[in-house]
Amino acid sequence: MTNRTFTMIKPDATEKGSTGGILAMINAAGFRIVAMKMTHLGAGKAGQFYEVHKERPFYGELVEFMSRGPITAAILEKENAVEDFRKLIGATNPANAEEGTIRKKYAASIGENAVHGSDSDENAAIEGAFFFNKLEQF
Ligand code: ATP
Ligand code: MG
Repeated sequence: MTNRTFTMIKPDATEKGSTGGILAMINAAGFRIVAMKMTHLGAGKAGQFYEVHKERPFYGELVEFMSRGPITAAILEKENAVEDFRKLIGATNPANAEEGTIRKKYAASIGENAVHGSDSDENAAIEGAFFFNKLEQF
């Protein structure tokens, strides 16, 4: 089944000029970009996006990081999109990420890990709608 996931290229990757390289890996893995924008999340929006982690000890650090510079948000389409994209990005901590994954190549640490990937079809739909209206999805 063809379906969709949502991704963000995080501020650390934007700062390092890794956006193009990450998008190339995403395309090479067979994902079609059906929506994309570069934007800067304020602390309010970043906090809202990661609200599920509000009680976690790293929440403050996460919100500060995600709002420190521009991100690129995108919706991606592919068969088995959510699971396959999580495989492509690799483990949350790049020290545990497999060879060939985006985080292995571009992430610096568990906090500054270059990319976000939705963890379920339901969250992919919610997260995609957070950034894009229907007219912005192709
Ligand atoms: P994401 O949701 O961004 O794709 P993930 O699903 O691999 O990442 P989550 O457990 O959802 O991991 O954590 C969300 C984000 O919070 C991580 O990507 C990372 O930026 C940050 N984070 C997670 N654990 C820690 C930690 N122990 N210390 C600092 N930051 C963390
Ligand atoms: Mg997550």
